[in-house]
Amino acid sequence: MKYVDEYRDLELAGNLANELRQLCSKRWTIMEVCGGQTHTILQYGIEDLLPETINLVHGPGCPVCVTPVALIDKAIAIALDPSVIFCSFGDMLRVPGSAIDLLEAKARGADVRIVYSPLDALNIAQRNNDKKIVFLAVGFETTAPANAMAIHQAKKLGISNFFVLSTQVTVPPVCAAILQAPNNQVEALIGPGHVCTITGLKEYKFLAEHYKIPIVVAGFEPLDILQAILACARQLESQRFDVINQYSRVVESEGNRFARNLLEEVFDLCDREWRGLGWIPKSGLKLSSDYRSFDAEREFASIATSECQESPECISGQILRGNKKPTDCAAFGITCTPGRPLGATMVSSEGTCANYYKFKRFDLGSANA
Ligand code: SF4
Repeated sequence: MKYVDEYRDLELAGNLANELRQLCSKRWTIMEVCGGQTHTILQYGIEDLLPETINLVHGPGCPVCVTPVALIDKAIAIALDPSVIFCSFGDMLRVPGSAIDLLEAKARGADVRIVYSPLDALNIAQRNNDKKIVFLAVGFETTAPANAMAIHQAKKLGISNFFVLSTQVTVPPVCAAILQAPNNQVEALIGPGHVCTITGLKEYKFLAEHYKIPIVVAGFEPLDILQAILACARQLESQRFDVINQYSRVVESEGNRFARNLLEEVFDLCDREWRGLGWIPKSGLKLSSDYRSFDAEREFASIATSECQESPECISGQILRGNKKPTDCAAFGITCTPGRPLGATMVSSEGTCANYYKFKRFDLGSANA
C-alpha cells in the first residue's frame, strides 16, 4: 500500500540503525512527543534496533493520559445529572477519576454514550430536545478543529442543548515546560506530525531556537521514526538546533490555515492542568466569548468537585517528562494493568505504560526488582 509498505521496509530500517550506530559518539536522549509515535516505537520494536547510544523517552502526547483527575471527576458528576446525555470517545470511559470512572458512572445509571465524532453528539442533541447533551472534548490541535466545527455548527443551527466540556490542550507549551524543568534530560524532540498538519512549524522553530534543541517533525510509520531519530542525532552530533520536517508528505510549513482560523474563532488559550505535570500556562483551549453559551463548565458551574489525588504509586508524571520509564514503576504489570489501571498512561492505546505492557518483552519480576 502506497505510503505504508515503503515505510515499513526492514532492510531500510536496518540501514538507518547502522548509520546511527556509526554516527553517535555519545548517548543521546530523544523524546517522541506524540502517543501515536510511542505506539509505533513499541509495536515495531524500534528500540530493539537502536544502538545503546540512543535513549528514547516517551512524551506527553497522549490526550487521554494528560486529562487531569479533577476534570474526569467533573465529567462524572455532570454525567450523573439526570438531565444529561454525556457523550465521549470510548477510551475516556476507562480513565480513572478519584473514585470511579465514566464506565462505572454508566453502570450506576448515567446516560453515557460512546461517539466517534463531535458531530455524532450534535445529532444526539438535535434528536433529544428535552436533554442537555454534553460532549467531552479531549485532544490536541489535531482533534480540536473537528470540535470547533461542531460548536460552530451548533451555533449556526441554533441548537441550545449542546455543550462541550473542554480539556483540549496544545503541544508547544508542554514541550517548553519539559525542556525548562531543572531535571530535564531531553536533548532532542521528535515532533508530532498530525498536530503540525494543523499548526505548521512556526512554534516549533521558536522552541528549537529558544531551548537550543533539534526538533524533527515526523510521521507514524517505523521508517518515519527511524529517519527522525537519525536526523536528531546528526544535529546533536554537530550541535545544530533546527526544525526539520520529516513528514513533508503531509505537513506543510504553514499548517492548515482554514483549521487554524476556525480554532482562533471558537477557542481562546487558557491555563490548563495536565495530569501528572501540573498547571501549564496558556496550554489549553477554552470556548471563546462568542461561543460561551456552549461551554459545559459555565452551564454546570454549580457542580463542584473536591480536591483530587493521583494514586500515590503512579509515577506517570515523571514518565511523561522523560525522566522515568514504565518499568521503573513498582506497580507496573502487578497492581497496575490495562484491566485495572492506576494511572491514565495505562489506559489509552497511546499511553506509554499500556504500550509497554502490550508490546515490551521483559521479565516483570526483574523489571520491578
Ligand atoms: S504503571 Fe500504572 S501506576 Fe505505574 S506509572 Fe504507569 S499508569 Fe502509573
